[in-house]
Amino acid sequence: MAVVQPSDSESILSTTRDNYLLWKTIGKTYLTAGKTILKRRGPKILSDAKQYPWLTELADLSSFFRSVSGRSGAYRKAILMLFEATATNVVDYVVDVLEQPERVVYFQSAGLGLTEILKSMGLIPYIDMAIPVVNALLNPPSNTVYMDAAESEGVSSDICSLGRAAQGLLFKGHYPKASVVIGNNGCEGQVNSSLVYAKRLGLPLFIVDMPNQYNTERAEEFFAGELRRMIEWLTSNTPGRMDWDLLKEILDGRNRQEEAKLELWELMRLKPAPLAAEVIFLSQLIAPVFLSGSPAACELYESLCECGQENIQKGIGANPNERYRAVVWHPFMAVHFHIYRYLELKWGVTVIQDSMSYSNTIFVDTSSQDSMMRGLARMMLNTPMVNLSRGTAENYFQTFEQIVDQYDVNLVLVGDHIGCKSVAGMTGLLRDKCRQKDIPVAFIPYDLIDPRFASMGDVMRRFDQFMETILDAEPLMETVPDI
Ligand code: SF4
Repeated sequence: MAVVQPSDSESILSTTRDNYLLWKTIGKTYLTAGKTILKRRGPKILSDAKQYPWLTELADLSSFFRSVSGRSGAYRKAILMLFEATATNVVDYVVDVLEQPERVVYFQSAGLGLTEILKSMGLIPYIDMAIPVVNALLNPPSNTVYMDAAESEGVSSDICSLGRAAQGLLFKGHYPKASVVIGNNGCEGQVNSSLVYAKRLGLPLFIVDMPNQYNTERAEEFFAGELRRMIEWLTSNTPGRMDWDLLKEILDGRNRQEEAKLELWELMRLKPAPLAAEVIFLSQLIAPVFLSGSPAACELYESLCECGQENIQKGIGANPNERYRAVVWHPFMAVHFHIYRYLELKWGVTVIQDSMSYSNTIFVDTSSQDSMMRGLARMMLNTPMVNLSRGTAENYFQTFEQIVDQYDVNLVLVGDHIGCKSVAGMTGLLRDKCRQKDIPVAFIPYDLIDPRFASMGDVMRRFDQFMETILDAEPLMETVPDI
């Protein structure tokens, strides 16, 4: 695709349009969120804010909106669309959780599969890592008080910070009330959380047993049985009752959502990529976690595809100076997500995919209760992050090769999250694999949630050194605005 350079008058016009879009989105986001809060919580929001201090942190969205600086046109539009969707859906999610504690089910992991089951039972999912992740995106230091609280209660500082921050909410008494807890053994961090919740929450606890060797028929069948046991247990311990017709409806919607997602991902194979970075990881956070199976999830992906098509028709990429097509390996850098913009603008690096967003696409056969349980089992066993941190090395490298080959990746950026010890053992093998494929790889030590381990400055310096010394690249600009 030839890159088209705009004339001066076109630039002035597009800058005006970009600014207008930014301010319009800011206004709309605060208005929608404010209306929801006033309508559904009214003055109770004041006591909520006192009881759950992290609510006030969520009000400051400046980190989101700052990140469109230097991004323009349809790419900027897509990012803003996602920020608006994230903010308004998080508000809906929090209000749902606060309103009916007797229906809230507290659980770990990304909630794929569980969210669909709980909603079909008239229950409200509360994902323990949701608040720490949103806090990390909006105001990275805000999680430190929770991680410190967990450590002062005896939780090891070696445990993944995602779990520690969620546990800290519990120890500080800032967690929303719930009726039961579902734990799992998907990764070492989540096992630790299940144990802490069992001891401290004093609520009925059910742990689903996720087989380590998970990509087999036997594992799928076993885990479908685990989910059935869980549904029976929820029926006995909560007011929730399974509505199989509703589950079918949600899963049919989810299948449509997966198709729309694949269309978006297909666009990312083009060079230059019409969209990038936040568009991929935020859409994969919002659609499956908060909107799963709803028409809104499909609409979101379709609107993003329209933005991508707009750039394709104009013959431009999201990154006008795309020199490298990168995959971010391991969880996306939540705490330093501005690094994606830094890489784009300073080094011409377009982040095409990340291993957490890229999970196996699963279509669920909704023809019977059994087939739905099997599909949900497959979905949960392939939950992002934990799908790479357990089982055989084959799972890890199959995903890696798929991403590299499908998107013609020529740079691997490893977000080397210090707390994820299961994947740390793969470092040497990953280095060898990149060498075999002749793709440069940068290992950047950081912590997914804790900005104290490596600051944004540290991460930028590590990337700069890598780009200068290993890739012998010239920067496109010295300093990136609003970093
Ligand atoms: S980063 Fe690793 S240890 Fe932490 S929750 Fe994810 S898979 Fe588990």
